[in-house]
Formats: sequence, structure tokens, C-alpha cells
Amino acid sequence: MSLSVLALAAPPARAAWVDRTEAIMGTRIYVQLWADDPDQGAAAIEAVMAEMRRIDALMSHYKPDSELSRINQRAGYEPVQVDPELFDLIKLSTHFSQITLGAFDITYASVGYLYNYPLHVHPTEEQIRTALPAVNWRNLEFDATHHTIRFGRPGMRIDLGGIAKGYAVDRGVAILKARGIQHAVVTAGGDSRLLGDHLGRPWLVSIANPDDPHNPGKVVTRIPLSDAAVSTSGDYERYFDENGVRYHHIIDPHTGHSANKVRSATIIGPTATQTDGLSKTAFVLGPEKTLEIIDHMPAFDAVFVTPAGRMLYSNGLRPPKPRPARTPAAANGPPPAASSAPPAH
Ligand code: ADP
Ligand code: MG
Repeated sequence: MSLSVLALAAPPARAAWVDRTEAIMGTRIYVQLWADDPDQGAAAIEAVMAEMRRIDALMSHYKPDSELSRINQRAGYEPVQVDPELFDLIKLSTHFSQITLGAFDITYASVGYLYNYPLHVHPTEEQIRTALPAVNWRNLEFDATHHTIRFGRPGMRIDLGGIAKGYAVDRGVAILKARGIQHAVVTAGGDSRLLGDHLGRPWLVSIANPDDPHNPGKVVTRIPLSDAAVSTSGDYERYFDENGVRYHHIIDPHTGHSANKVRSATIIGPTATQTDGLSKTAFVLGPEKTLEIIDHMPAFDAVFVTPAGRMLYSNGLRPPKPRPARTPAAANGPPPAASSAPPAH
């Protein structure tokens, strides 16, 4: 009797970790999951990869026949009917523009298209001056009834490269959950989501060293996480250096130049769509202003590496502040002096 109970409680003999890597959406897609049956695990991974390909075909700005390219070709002339899923993500992007004070702006592409990192091409100041008036998310005109989008300024373009990977990761996790998977990681470029834990322990997420990003021995920190999303943006991902200036893929919508107030920014939160939409902010606004925003968002945390190599953490990742002595004066008096706060790491 007790033996058969034990047999029922034990995991099936073939349960195993299954993983796969593919190149989709111009980046590395990685899925790892714990499967009771490895064949079902492999089928679940294939379903996630198929979803990534579907989203790429819809939202890629490199593919001239994608829905997104169709919007860029026509929305300057007339309202363009947009697939509801794409319409919703574009609308959601403007929500992130709002909370990041314009740092996240999918219309950055109106100047962004003038950069070509593999070919070491960047625009001249004159080209930036001409293109910049078209960058402003407030000039995207939505008609929610007819699902149409129109560009309110000539020369506008949009690009979802800063949010579509996070969105695809969330879709991937939803597919795995629907198939009964309970422990998994889905990664697309800098965006990951962790489903469950790593069989009784948290997943350990490494943050790369911006000066040596591919060296696992040089990571700047490791963060234990379960059931969370994490996005890291870095100036070392798509870039070239010229005359001591780094031209990289995160563009300040206010200047049209690569944004360089941090070297890397990691955001932790509930979904990868959200963490992706927020991970560009510190490059543009700077780490202090961005920490103010993140520290007012209870479900989110952040880690930044500054140009000087300093690490900055949001309140949720810092040691708790020492409590003041419990005297009547302290209980009713002003909050503890700023000097009692622990220094940033
Ligand atoms: P990854 O593609 O590895 O996830 P990021 O999340 O850092 O990288 O996103 C960088 C991408 O975001 C750029 O390649 C570009 O497509 C897009 N992007 C660049 N600047 C902005 C911006 N200011 N607002 C919104 N998207 C941006
Ligand atoms: Mg990203």
C-alpha cells in the first residue's frame, strides 16, 4: 500500500528538462521547460517558436510585406485598417510613452531608420534635424471603432523593436501554461519570462557586464527570480564605435542620437511586455529619474549600470532602511534623515 502511494507520488520516469534555441525576430529565441514527457515538451517548444514566427511576420519592420510595414507605407496618407492584435500593441506602446515621459516612443523610427549598425552608418546632424519633427507618439491618430491608425505628421514611421519581443515572450508563456507546463523560461533577445521556479529553487538571472557582455565569468550580478519577467537593454547589443562615440540601437526621441545615460538597464516585473516597454527609459531619462518612476510602481524593480560602471538598484532590491529608535519623538516626528538610507551598491 505505502509502496504504491510512493510510486504515484514520484515523477514519471522520463520527466526531463527540454530546451531549444532558434534565430527569429532578428534575435536569439531560447525556450527551456520541464516536461513530464519530453515529446510533449518538444511539441510545446515548437508551438512557442511558431508563435514567434507569426508575430515576426506581423510586426517586423525589416519585412516589407509585414502588417507593420504596410502601416509605415500608407498611414502618412490615409487611415490604415490594422489587425486588432497589432492595433492593441501599438496603442499600448503609447501608454509606455506616457509613463516614461516620452523616453519610450515607437515613432523614434522616423530617425531610427537612418542608422545602420552592421554597416556603421549614422545620420548627419542635418539629417537628424530634418527627421526629428516626425518623432512624437502624440501624433499617432487612433480610431478604436474602425481599428485604423493614421500618422499626423509627414515622414512618420513606427517600429516595435522595443516591445514586440517582450510581447512575444508573454504569448509564448501563455501557450506553455495552456499546455500544462509549470516550469519554463522563454527568452527573446534581452527579454525573458520565468514560469514557475527551477524545481524548488528560483531561476538565477545573470546581468551581463557591458564591457564584456559575452563572458559568463564577468557578469555584474545574478538575481534569483520565479514567476517574473526581466528585460535587459544594453548599449553593447547593436552598435559601432566611431571617433570615441558609441552609436547604438536605443535612440533618444528628443535628440535623435543614441541615448547614453546608462550602459545597461534591467527591469523586473510581472510581464515581459511591460519590462520591455520600460527597459529603454534609463538610457534616455537617466538612472535617477527612472528610479523615481520605478520606485512608484510597486510590482517593478530595476538595476542599472552607469557609464562609470556603478550599479544602482531600485528600493525593492536594496537592504531595508534601518528603523529609527522607537522613542515617542521618533514615532511622531519627521521621517529618518536621508543619511540613514543605505548607500546605493
Ligand atoms: P532587444 O531587442 O534585445 O530586446 P531592447 O529591448 O533594448 O533590445 O530594444 C531595443 C530596440 O528598441 C531597438 O533595436 C529599437 O528597435 C527600439 N528602440 C530604440 N529606441 C527606442 C525608443 N526610444 N523607444 C522605443 N523603442 C526604441
Ligand atoms: Mg527588449
